[in-house]
Amino acid sequence: MFLVFPYMEPRRLWKRWVIDTRLDNCWTTVLMLLTLRLFLRQSQRFGAIMSKKSYRADAGQSSTSTSTSRSSFSSINITFLGTASAQPSSTRNHSSLALHLGRDVWLFDCGEATQHQIQKSGVKMGKIEKIFITHTHGDHIFGLIPLLASCMNGAGGTAEGVDDPRTEVNMEEKPLEIYGPLGTRAYVRNGISLTHTLLGSPYVVHELRSVSDPQHGDFTSLGHLPFELPSGRNIPQVDGVWTDIFKDDIVSVSAAPIHHSIPCLGFVVTEAPVPGRIDPKKYIPDIKRTNTPMTVMRRLQQGESVQLSDGTVIHGPPRRRGRKVAILGDTFDPSPIIPLALDADLLVHEATNAHLPGADPATKDSDTYETVEARAKSRGHSTPQMAGTFAKRIRARSLVLNHFSPRYPGGDTEEAIGIMRVIADLATKEYGKKVRCAKDLMTIEVKFEDRVLP
Ligand SMILES: [Zn+2]
Ligand SMILES: [Zn+2]
Repeated sequence: MFLVFPYMEPRRLWKRWVIDTRLDNCWTTVLMLLTLRLFLRQSQRFGAIMSKKSYRADAGQSSTSTSTSRSSFSSINITFLGTASAQPSSTRNHSSLALHLGRDVWLFDCGEATQHQIQKSGVKMGKIEKIFITHTHGDHIFGLIPLLASCMNGAGGTAEGVDDPRTEVNMEEKPLEIYGPLGTRAYVRNGISLTHTLLGSPYVVHELRSVSDPQHGDFTSLGHLPFELPSGRNIPQVDGVWTDIFKDDIVSVSAAPIHHSIPCLGFVVTEAPVPGRIDPKKYIPDIKRTNTPMTVMRRLQQGESVQLSDGTVIHGPPRRRGRKVAILGDTFDPSPIIPLALDADLLVHEATNAHLPGADPATKDSDTYETVEARAKSRGHSTPQMAGTFAKRIRARSLVLNHFSPRYPGGDTEEAIGIMRVIADLATKEYGKKVRCAKDLMTIEVKFEDRVLP
């Protein structure tokens, strides 16, 4: 917008031109910014709708995941957030662990103060996509509602008549998914409702229903909350297990009941087969000789067979077995999970009670290993020897113990390290391989073993 002022002297006219040009540029910039903002908002909206659509499309079988665009995980790690049974202590928090699948984070159990442990660890709260609950004992679930409130911008509400944007639910966001036994959905819904917690994004609860559970309904008379998606599934137990409660292109989760004092689950996370190691020297000469496009290398890398331009067929390297992790809740006998957990690369098994004469000054004179094992079993728990025996039975490649009695502190004191070494040795004797005892905030890597698929 350049206005001409014929009665102005040249200097004033120049000044006016500069101002108008600036104004003109200013308006252009504002218009551009507004257009850009509108475009970004529409893109975000489109992205959210597409992500929501894919969620809905998958809801019947599995559910959404950011991992589907990748062919395998760069790494699989576990961070132990809490390793205590019964009461937490200054060195051990209640049960929870974070499974890192590349950039994605899945939590297994969420005992009291899990979010405090997350803040002390390298786990990113905003990256948590799924939470799996093994059973509804408080030391495994008391931290769930506060964690949801923190993850999902929970607010405490407003006085009547006050408009507060915090109370808006963005239902287009991807939901946080929770899997657990019967009662998990009712616990979360009632806990959120009775604490008047308002969440800023949605969640959904899928329950693994055993054959003796009611197969339908929510197990509570309280209706859905505005931020709870009604697409939560009641997954029936088939042939004793729950197969593929979640599955995408690169990972699946199955579960089985394990024996404890109340209904309890063990989960098995299995990485899909990964591409084999390709040796380009083996393929490139034939590809060049036959003038076949070099792009076939990509298909060979995926293990496919490819026909060259002269009709010869060459085969890519066979795919290799992906990693498998078995994470058990509290148990005195996890045998129903054996078919799923066989050959696990890592088994996480509880070892609540141990008989440690000489190492544990609180050992009673009347105690023997047999009395301690009988007591552990009667309360639904295991000893290190029981965990070692089970790891050997499923041919696990490695074993980590967790869920220790408050008698056995974590931390780095000489006493704690000494007791944990004795506990690990007891399990090692049965298992035949080195066993580790988990400490709070300890991270381990689930290593990949080159095993070609049969
Ligand atoms: Zn427990
Ligand atoms: Zn328990």
